[in-house]
Amino acid sequence: MKLLLKYNILPKPERYETLEGTYTVSSSTEVLCSKEFTRAGHYLTAYLKTNPRQGEGAITFKKVEGMAKESYVLRVAPDGITVRASDERGAFYGAVTLKMILMQATKTEGKAVVNGLLISDKPHHGYRGLQIDESRHFFGKEVVLRVLDQMAMLKLNAFHWHLSDDQGFRIESKVFPELNSIGSRRRYAGLKGCGMEYRGGEYFHYYTQEEIREIEAYANSLYIDVIPEIDLPGHTRDMLAAHPELSCTGEPTEVMCENGVASEILCAGNEAVYAFLEQLLAEMCGLFKGKYFHIGGDEATGGHRKYWQNCPKCQAAMVQNDLKTPKELQGYFMTRVNEMVKKHGKTAIAWNDVIGDSFDDSIVCQYWLPNNLGTVRKQAFKRDMILSPTDYFYFDVKYAQIPLRKVYRFDEALLGLAKPGQRVLGLECEHWSEFLDTETALQFSMFPRTAAFAEVAWTDPQIRRYSDFKKRLAWLKTYMRKVGIIYSRVEKGNRLTVGACRYHLGEDGAEFARSEKLRALETEK
Ligand SMILES: [Zn+2]
Repeated sequence: MKLLLKYNILPKPERYETLEGTYTVSSSTEVLCSKEFTRAGHYLTAYLKTNPRQGEGAITFKKVEGMAKESYVLRVAPDGITVRASDERGAFYGAVTLKMILMQATKTEGKAVVNGLLISDKPHHGYRGLQIDESRHFFGKEVVLRVLDQMAMLKLNAFHWHLSDDQGFRIESKVFPELNSIGSRRRYAGLKGCGMEYRGGEYFHYYTQEEIREIEAYANSLYIDVIPEIDLPGHTRDMLAAHPELSCTGEPTEVMCENGVASEILCAGNEAVYAFLEQLLAEMCGLFKGKYFHIGGDEATGGHRKYWQNCPKCQAAMVQNDLKTPKELQGYFMTRVNEMVKKHGKTAIAWNDVIGDSFDDSIVCQYWLPNNLGTVRKQAFKRDMILSPTDYFYFDVKYAQIPLRKVYRFDEALLGLAKPGQRVLGLECEHWSEFLDTETALQFSMFPRTAAFAEVAWTDPQIRRYSDFKKRLAWLKTYMRKVGIIYSRVEKGNRLTVGACRYHLGEDGAEFARSEKLRALETEK
């Protein structure tokens, strides 16, 4: 009997059996789907270069009742290929898996011979996110569209888009055009700090509202939700450069050209600030279709507090609202911001360092800071959580600090965040862009770690094995080489290179140079 080959599928499916026989797919193979699974059908026909039809046929997408959310069953047998699912997302992920199989199937004369198989699959986490920061460096539409394709291929479904920070405001505002003419512009392209000096000339980038809508529509066509972030009340030098009247002192300032966090902050006691945010957030919420809106809230505790402590308006607000500490003042500020986005039908997400018991339970907490784990565990019983711990999922950090194996070994149970009653929505990997200034640098930090991340987010921990993942990853690397995605070849922890800066410096970094050397060797072979 012929030994049936297994295909390399990332992330690993829940169950995989080989069946007798084969099925041959060509460009004349009909793809038929029920109406609501048309997008799933299109994903496949775009690859096969055909058009999906409604009805039943050679490759059939069938709706069945009672299957779990986002789950699918894929069967390949001599009589045809079927994808069964109860919802659109499940059908789509069936198409994604089938495409990955077709890419690996033996091909002769334009026909792909697929071995018989039965896969039943469902995600471990419902929220599987990837974040890109475009404030520090702007990648632009074409790069983002490619990232969305890569996300869909790995069954990631949430794109967290960090669009405002000290170093630049990146969405067109028609209500406050100075946020673009001043806030989207800074003096240098390359940021100073962490061993880097100012580089390049003026840097002026933002997405037009039309581009934003186009990108979100594309994401949605791949069943990826877009979560925009306007970081408040710290991380706002971009806004304060455009509107200095919103700070406690009213002094003029500039969009930041350095790495790190500016100490300037929005005044929390000035009603004009809340009026400004009402209008801005109304415009921004109206621009995006998704359910979630990220309101930031992180790192507003350092030098910021001296502004609030010395500001008569902030002090008056504290007295009036019986707030004892600057932290409580920030809670008051965030609560008001939450009400604003809620009014527009959005659910707010905020970083864990700001969240406390006084916060509305509807606010989702995004966990990033490892030293707040005790509080986070308690909050997880109260509100939905997204986990993106810095020591596992901050992919702008060097491979020496967060190697592939470490990403793969992540388990929320080890953090005490898998207890019954805790509301963990899922996981997210972060690509802060202080040092990621090109698509190449971004890809290098993303891959192969994002493949490991996708498996951690999708696959049940019980069936995950690193050695097995590495074997399947070998296929993905072949694919990435073919399509020109840059990935890191640096495997072994190389702790000596960590040094003072824990971030890898994109194309300027030693790890990148080392990986490129290995890449050259690989090409010679
Ligand atoms: Zn103030």
